[in-house]
Amino acid sequence: MLRDVLGEPAGGPIALHEPEITAHERALVDRCLASGWVSSVGEYIGELERRIAAVTGAGHVVAVGSGTAALQLALHAAGVRPGDEVLVPTLSFVATANAVAHCGATPHFVDADADSLGVDPAALRAHLARVARRDGAGREARTVHGATGRRIAALVPMHTFGHASRIAELCEAAAEWGIPVVEDAAESLGTTVGTSAIGTSVGGARHTGTFGLLGTLSFNGNKTVTTGGGGAVLTDDESLAARVRHLATTAKRPHAWEYVHDAVAWNHRMPNLNAALGVAQMDRLDDMLARKRALAARYEAAARGAEGWSVVAPLAGTTSNRWLVAARLAGGDDAAARRDEVLAAAHAAGYLCRPAWQPLHTLPMYADAPRATLPVATALHATLVNVPSSARLGGAPAPVRGGTT
Ligand SMILES: *Cc1c(COP(=O)(O)O)cnc(C)c1O
Repeated sequence: MLRDVLGEPAGGPIALHEPEITAHERALVDRCLASGWVSSVGEYIGELERRIAAVTGAGHVVAVGSGTAALQLALHAAGVRPGDEVLVPTLSFVATANAVAHCGATPHFVDADADSLGVDPAALRAHLARVARRDGAGREARTVHGATGRRIAALVPMHTFGHASRIAELCEAAAEWGIPVVEDAAESLGTTVGTSAIGTSVGGARHTGTFGLLGTLSFNGNKTVTTGGGGAVLTDDESLAARVRHLATTAKRPHAWEYVHDAVAWNHRMPNLNAALGVAQMDRLDDMLARKRALAARYEAAARGAEGWSVVAPLAGTTSNRWLVAARLAGGDDAAARRDEVLAAAHAAGYLCRPAWQPLHTLPMYADAPRATLPVATALHATLVNVPSSARLGGAPAPVRGGTT
């Protein structure tokens, strides 16, 4: 089936997801280099933030050095402090839990649902009803994990492989417990919720990453849009955005010459050189999304005639960026063994497919972390295979007309 959709690998194996760098990216990076403004100050940083705001509809965007840094800053801004717990999906990339740990907090793992691959709102509600209690009143009110006595300080839903999770329901469930939501939208730039979603335009639809108090994106080399390495924090709250920007820039007070800093902070700002690459990629976002969606449609057509596997579809009423197409192998007790056979055969034939991540609660550093029962995520890990999903596999890039910036 991979051969039917992708053809024979020519000139080396076909990667899972590779960046697409055209003459347009080279031109903007070159212009940035020529300007001399390659570091933490320069016109492309603000331009990239405006582009992301336009596509996502977020009120405020702060570009930072990685998706992991974005999550850590967002969690901190949402009030996560050492000694807290944060609800995170066990079916996620390790950065989701690491960002929690870097805040001095403990990840508290929750399960996925089988169709969205995101956090299961019903399972989350049932778990909280079982293990959590509300303490205090008014401004002192907090949700506490009964068994550990620790505050549950945030929920981090993630939009798996670019498909939207059941984000509205998750926000409702969290609100019932007074728990702020920080969305890990690292994989879902271009993914919207709402029936009138057209391309990346926001008209009537709402972009992932804008449902929670804050949301985060990643521009790592394997994501839909890359800045080499990078990320962004999204929020509609002006004071939170200012806080994130301040903490990402060593908490330096504005002054013409003095070095005055008012908090222990980070150097997490995105360099202008990376932002120049990002602006060029954003010029081509609609084109890359169109080709990724065309590729996903080809996989779906191939799956219709096939036995033993299907393509994981986005939830009804959502539009996925189709970051990574996931094939779901038919279940059975030997699913994991079958998955490994499929992966070995694909690699031998030159198609660099990958399984879903090891569920995070099984990693050594999180072995003792609190958790719900996690049967669905465990089963998903045994049956999902991501297949090559680069934009170029859906067709050649369209030339950028007019050039910008
Ligand atoms: C890529 C990714 C991140 C982190 O992004 P980096 O830019 O690599 O730090 C976080 N969460 C998820 C789910 C991701 O896929």
